[in-house]
Amino acid sequence: MGKQVTVVGGGLAGSEAAWQIARRGVDVRLYEMRPERPTPVHRSGGLAELVCSNSFKSLELANAHGLLKEEARRLGSMILAAAQQSRVPGGAALAVDRVVFSERVTATLENDPRITVIREEVPEIPDDELVVIAVGPLVSDALAASIGRFTGSDYLYFYDAIAPVIEADSIDRSIVFAQSRYGKGGGDDYLNCPFDEATYVRFVEALLAGEKAPLHDVDNTPFFEGCLPIEEMARRGLDTLRFGPMKPVGLTDPRTDSEAHAIVQLRQDNLAAEHFSMVGFQTQMRWPEQKRIFRTIPGLENAEFVRLGQIHRNCYINAPSVLRPSLQTRTRPGLFFAGQISGVEGYTESAATGLFAGINAARLALGQEPLELPANTMLGALCSYISNADPAGYQPTNAAFGLVPHVPVKKRGRKERRLARSAKALEVLDDWIEQHGEGATVELPA
Ligand SMILES: Cc1cc2nc3c(=O)[nH]c(=O)nc-3n(C[C@H](O)[C@H](O)[C@H](O)COP(=O)(O)OP(=O)(O)OC[C@H]3O[C@@H](n4cnc5c(N)ncnc54)[C@H](O)[C@@H]3O)c2cc1C
Repeated sequence: MGKQVTVVGGGLAGSEAAWQIARRGVDVRLYEMRPERPTPVHRSGGLAELVCSNSFKSLELANAHGLLKEEARRLGSMILAAAQQSRVPGGAALAVDRVVFSERVTATLENDPRITVIREEVPEIPDDELVVIAVGPLVSDALAASIGRFTGSDYLYFYDAIAPVIEADSIDRSIVFAQSRYGKGGGDDYLNCPFDEATYVRFVEALLAGEKAPLHDVDNTPFFEGCLPIEEMARRGLDTLRFGPMKPVGLTDPRTDSEAHAIVQLRQDNLAAEHFSMVGFQTQMRWPEQKRIFRTIPGLENAEFVRLGQIHRNCYINAPSVLRPSLQTRTRPGLFFAGQISGVEGYTESAATGLFAGINAARLALGQEPLELPANTMLGALCSYISNADPAGYQPTNAAFGLVPHVPVKKRGRKERRLARSAKALEVLDDWIEQHGEGATVELPA
């Protein structure tokens, strides 16, 4: 019998890793503790459940997330194929019906003859020769302690918050208007709640006075800057929200034929268009406070909430002191980390690192050398960042052009320069794929 791989965690990273390994002809045991042991925020026993936003962010190549998605697609991502096949309107973003998406991933993995899905908590890093740890930011306590012992350092974590979801038929459509910023996507992919100045000022004051849920761990644990709770943004200044998730630019209120002072955007959250999530509205306010304050948003006076915002702890390893760019650990080459626990941040980043760890774990199982990606691709730059950044004060990162080594491009304008950098990254990746034979086009059964 050939070597097999143990994957721990059936989230975005673990599901992608398991599928990549199986696709290369290697047997996989995929451990997922849900539904037996739930996490504080997952709601189902489905694999690859999206816990907050239903968006994988932009598909545009002038955007770092768009480039990362295109790279993952060329590398044969199952998660992106499932996302494409579960798509709901989201402007330039890849937004999905989270239930359909998770069901598609679950069926794909459970029907794969090389994958055995085992519904059990793994309390310690398994001793098996080839292991991918992809347990996400809400890893169970026992395994967190085991990882802490392996890495030799205290576990690292910060706080993160999730946004509420609203029932569509409780939204007042005589006030809320359908429109995408600058008419992108279908032109009317988002619902927009328009504020005049006085309502906005009252709203910010209410956020500042709103009662917050207590944090049970160390009080000075930082928030992740890319996912700040709205009340934390409000605390930073009256206009911070207006330049952040409540920015009104590129949207015209048809009732006034002008730009509102501020906007709250709602994005379709399921294929039936029954649920809409509040874009960028992560919060740690107490649930009754959320209902009270969010019902002061124009058009949401009678909003019914499918889910309210929450705060949670977010765990990750000090990747630069633990990992190689191949996502193998430095001290145990058969042990890989992928996904959010490996020190990246975001859905696509998690899936993409799962993909790469899966490729390399399969290669080891097949007696081949593990690979590194060129650092001037977005995924290569992420792997390079997590394995080479300064370990002191390490913070997880999203995909960003700033991670990719600078290549001078003779283009005017930021967008054109970024498009040129993306084109270069994709050219380099295509060469790499050709050299190593690791790319693929993926289409899942409908
Ligand atoms: C509440 C919250 C909101 C977030 N919101 C967003 C967002 O809106 N957009 C975004 O891009 N990113 C968001 N993130 C960050 C990140 O992208 C997601 O957490 C993403 O799901 C990470 O993928 P993953 O595969 O690493 O982990 P997960 O998707 O969390 O998967 C890990 C899996 O491992 C399982 N597991 C844990 N411990 C064990 C164990 N001991 N044994 C067996 N199984 C175990 C868990 O049950 C889980 O299914 C959010 C994170 C959290 C926690």
